Amino acid sequence: MSIPRWFFFVLIVGCLLAYGQTVSAQQSRPDDEITKLADDVYLYRHQFHQAIFITTPKGVIVTDPISFDAATWLKAKIKTLTDQPVRYVIYSHHHADHITGGSVFADQAHFVSHAAAREKILQAGDSKTPVPDLTFTDRMSIDLGGKHVELIYTGKNHSDNSLVVLLPQNKLLFAVDFIPVETVAYRTMSSDYPDDWIESLKQVEQLDFETLVPGHGKIGRKEHVRMFRGYLEDLRAAVEEQVRKGASVEETKKAVRLPKYEQWQHYADWFPENVEGMYRYLSQQKENR
Ligand SMILES: [Zn+2]
Repeated sequence: MSIPRWFFFVLIVGCLLAYGQTVSAQQSRPDDEITKLADDVYLYRHQFHQAIFITTPKGVIVTDPISFDAATWLKAKIKTLTDQPVRYVIYSHHHADHITGGSVFADQAHFVSHAAAREKILQAGDSKTPVPDLTFTDRMSIDLGGKHVELIYTGKNHSDNSLVVLLPQNKLLFAVDFIPVETVAYRTMSSDYPDDWIESLKQVEQLDFETLVPGHGKIGRKEHVRMFRGYLEDLRAAVEEQVRKGASVEETKKAVRLPKYEQWQHYADWFPENVEGMYRYLSQQKENR
C-alpha cells in the first residue's frame, strides 16, 4: 500500500486524541505506539498498521507482527510488560504488509492462520514470516492463562482467508482490512470479493462484541460493521444501475456519488476507485451469467 505522508500525520494525531493514554511514557519512536485497550489487552501501532496483543500469566498472544522492524520493537516492549514469552502469533490474513516479522517470535510461539492463508504464506516463502503450524477452516479457540480467544472465519471478504479475533471477556473484535471505521474501502478493492464481503459482514454482525479494532485507522464500535455493510450495499446498487444502463467505467465514475458517506475518510480520493473496482466486479459477473 502506498499511503501519502500527510495521512500518517493525520493518523498519528488522530490516534493520540482518540486512544487516550499510552503505556510507554518515553516514546523514542513516533512510528510505534502501544495503548492499553482493556485489562491485559493492548493495541500496538506501527505507522499506518495496527494489531492487538493479550498478556496472560501463561504467555502472550500476539496478532499481526506487521513487519520485522515493528515486531522487533514489539518484542522488546512486551518484555517491559511481562516476563512471559509470546506463545501464539495469529495472522489476520495472508497479506505481507500485516504479517511479516513473526520470525522474531519463532523460538517459542505457535503460528496460527486460516488454512487458505497457510497455502499462500508457504508459496510466498518469506523467511521472516513463519509458516503457520496451527490452522483451521471455520472456528478455533485458544485458551491460555485464563484468557479465551476465538478465531472465526466469516467467509470471503477482502481476502479468502481473513479471520476475526474475538475476545469474549472484553467484548472486543479485531478484524483487518475488511471493516474500516467510517472509511471507504481501499482503492480499487482489487483483491476483494464484494458480494461475499457483504455476507461476511452479516456474519460479523451476529457476533457478541462492543469494540471493533481494525488493522488501520480509528477504533470503532459494533455499529460500524453495519455502517460499512450499508456502504458496500449502497455502492453496489449505485454502480449496478450504471452497469445495467450500459455506461462505461468513466461514465460510471462521473455519475456515481454517495453523499451520505462524504464525511468518511478517503471519500475524496478512494471513492472513485471503489466505484471503478465495483464496476469491474459487476461487469465480470454480468459476463459470467
Ligand atoms: Zn490486506
